[in-house]
Amino acid sequence: METIVCASHNPNKVKEIAKITREFGFDVITRDEAGVPLMFDVIEDGKTFADNSYKKAFTIMRITGKPAIADDSGLVVDCLDGAPGVWSARFAGEPCDDEKNNDKLLDLMKDVPYDERTAHFVSCVTLVYPDGEIVSAQGECPGHILFERRGTGGFGYDPLFLSDELGKTFAEIDMEEKNTVSHRARALAKLGELLKERENGVMHNA
Ligand code: IMP
Repeated sequence: METIVCASHNPNKVKEIAKITREFGFDVITRDEAGVPLMFDVIEDGKTFADNSYKKAFTIMRITGKPAIADDSGLVVDCLDGAPGVWSARFAGEPCDDEKNNDKLLDLMKDVPYDERTAHFVSCVTLVYPDGEIVSAQGECPGHILFERRGTGGFGYDPLFLSDELGKTFAEIDMEEKNTVSHRARALAKLGELLKERENGVMHNA
């Protein structure tokens, strides 16, 4: 099994990434386990999810000397011209606070009718190898932003995001069900396909 370091601090993301990448023969260790200092942080100042995921993975790879994987993800709301987008974690300011982010989203959308509350989650997952090779993939999942929170599980915008495919919010389902449609699962599945092709000698540009 190849060991890769997950660049994320978020235990939910590490779990989701580990569960799926394990199927592709990777043993995921956390940045703590790889010896990255707790206080070390990568500034997420990219304009796109791809920019940020590359920056995070590349930085952790350079520090640990091991292949590193990073996800950058967020919520894209159509009636808000794509906001919160790459600012999803810090939408209501710093320090990051899921409750405040959800409150801000509800407030900005209070007069928007249901049909116009379309949104999608995006995840870009990037794996960077010590020799500089990059494998990167993006996944999306469509939904609507509800008028109030529903469900108690998950994290981030999960209680407000009604999956069009499941008819439930991401806070009403367990991780296994979330992985059947989630943006991160889709990005990781695509990444897995690229890794299989890589094993078979087909080269990819990210
Ligand atoms: P990142 O850690 O910089 O990728 O920021 C991602 C932010 O987007 C999180 O803090 C959440 O606010 C939001 N987000 C991304 N994926 C999800 C998800 O699966 N459910 C809920 N919120 C998410």
